[in-house]
Amino acid sequence: MDKTIPIPTPVTQPFWEGCTAGEFRYQLCNACHEPQFYPRALCRHCHAQDLSWKVASGFGTVHTYTTVHRAPSEAFDADVPYLLALIDLDEGIRIMTNILNATETDVSVGAKVRIVFESRGDRVLPQAVLAQ
Ligand SMILES: [Zn+2]
Repeated sequence: MDKTIPIPTPVTQPFWEGCTAGEFRYQLCNACHEPQFYPRALCRHCHAQDLSWKVASGFGTVHTYTTVHRAPSEAFDADVPYLLALIDLDEGIRIMTNILNATETDVSVGAKVRIVFESRGDRVLPQAVLAQ
């Protein structure tokens, strides 16, 4: 069994193209200037459709985290235990991803992380590592 691979939609395609280029892209509303992630057709703050794509620095902090001990499918059996975290990127967006180079004894709320990219099939996915 292979790991699940996200399927891009017209709304998310620029995000996935960014990952392939080594960029973490997010949307910025041109009406109210609020950032948002995940990608949407409308601004989640003011419902404007005038959105731009920006490239995040790739740096952020751990908002919270947990250790996954039971794999969600057989494809992830070799990965457990692994860290799943909510990360606040410096641009003001919150993302959910794995922290690859750490266990729960290494990480804490507020720890600095940076985004890295992992190839999975024909897709590239964002992951996090503790910033050194
Ligand atoms: Zn807006």
